[in-house]
Amino acid sequence: MPANKKLLFLPGDGIGPEVMTEVRRVIDWMDRRRSVTFDITEGLIGGTAYDETGSPLPEETLEAAQNSDAVLMGAVGGPKWETLPFDVQPERGLLGIRKEMGLFANLRPAIVFDALAEASTLKLDIVKGLDIMILRELTGGLYFGDPRGVEELPDGTRKGYNTMTYTTPEVERIGRVAFDLAAKRDKRLCSVDKANVLETTVMWRETMESIKGDYPDIELSHMYVDNAAMQLVRNPKQFDVMVTTNMFGDILSDCAAMLTGSLGMLPSASLGAPDESGRRPALYEPVHGSAPDITGQGIANPLATILSYSMLLRYSFDMAEDADLIDQAAQNILDGGLRTADIMEEGKAKVSTQVMGEAIVNELDKLAA
Ligand code: NAD
Repeated sequence: MPANKKLLFLPGDGIGPEVMTEVRRVIDWMDRRRSVTFDITEGLIGGTAYDETGSPLPEETLEAAQNSDAVLMGAVGGPKWETLPFDVQPERGLLGIRKEMGLFANLRPAIVFDALAEASTLKLDIVKGLDIMILRELTGGLYFGDPRGVEELPDGTRKGYNTMTYTTPEVERIGRVAFDLAAKRDKRLCSVDKANVLETTVMWRETMESIKGDYPDIELSHMYVDNAAMQLVRNPKQFDVMVTTNMFGDILSDCAAMLTGSLGMLPSASLGAPDESGRRPALYEPVHGSAPDITGQGIANPLATILSYSMLLRYSFDMAEDADLIDQAAQNILDGGLRTADIMEEGKAKVSTQVMGEAIVNELDKLAA
C-alpha cells in the first residue's frame, strides 16, 4: 500500500524521544491494521538541533514542516541549554516553528478519564466525565500588539505598556475554527471576552455574533473571562467548546488542564489557515515539557503524546473512528489499572513508558478484533 500522508516527527529533547517512540508503535500498528499509511520523516528541533546544527530550528526542519500534512512534536528544552544566548535557546525553536507555520488556533482539550478522576484537586462529581475543549487564539492580542515597551518618565518612574489588538478577520478565522469544532462535538460554543471593559473584546463579541448565522446548529453564548474562570472550577461540565483571546486562553487552558490532574495526560494541537488545496498547517504536541528530572529513566507517561497523535488523526485527517479507537484504548488501559509513575495510585500496577506503549497496542488489537 503506498504511503498517502506525510508526517514530520520532531522528538526534540529530554523525554521527547522516549514518548515519541511509543507513538511510533501505535503508528506501526495502524500501518499494519488499517487503511492509511504514513510517510514519516524525522527532523531536529530544540537543544538537540542546536547541538547538531547551531540552530534550534534548522532550515531543513522548517522546510520539512511546510511540506508535511502534519507535524508531531515531543518536547524541547533542558538545563544543558539554559545558558545559551536567548535567540538560540531550544524554546525559540518551538516559538519559531509555530510562527513560521502561521499556527493561530491552539486546541487544548481537558478530558478527565474516569479512572483518574480522583487525581483532580476538585471533587469527584465536579470533574467526573469532563470533556471540554479550550480554543485559544495564538498569534494576536495582547502578546503581540503594538505599541509595547517600558519607558522612562521625566519624573524618574517607568511606564510599562502592552496593547491588545484584534482585527475582524483575525477574530472571524478563530471564530470559524471554534464553530467547526463545536459542530464535531456537542454543538455548544461559549465565547469568552471582557466586553464590559475592553473595546477590543466588544468587537470580538460582535464579530462572533456576525458569523453565527453560518452555523445554525450551534448554540453560541458569551461569558466574561472572570466569570469563565469561576465557572471552570465551579461547574466545568457546563461547557463544550470555549473560544477566547490569546491571553485569556493562556490562563483558562492551564486552569482547565489542572482539572484533569496530570500533565502527562494532556494533548494539544495548533492549527493554521488552509491553503488553496485545503491543506491546513498543523502541529500536535503534548502540553508537558521535556521533564529533565526523569529523562532517560524510562518512566515518562507517553499518553499525552499518543493522545496528541489521536488529535492529529481527528483534526488533520478527519479520521474520527481511528482517533476514537486510540482514545478508547487509553481509557481501557487506565480502567485496567496500569499507571506510569506520574499517575500512580495505591493498588494499581506501576509500569514503564515502554510497557504503557505496548499495552495501548495490545488493547488496540483487542478493540479492532
Ligand atoms: P515539564 O512539563 O517538563 O515538567 C514538569 C513536571 O512534570 C516534572 O516533574 C516532570 O517530571 C513532570 N512530567 C512532565 N511530563 C511528564 C510525563 N510525560 N510523564 C511523567 N511526568 C511528566 O516542565 P518544566 O520542568 O517546567 O520544564 C522543563 C523543560 O521543558 C524546560 O526547559 C522548559 O522550558 C521546557 N518546556 C517545554 C515545553 C514544550 O516543549 N512544549 C513546554 C513546557 C516546558
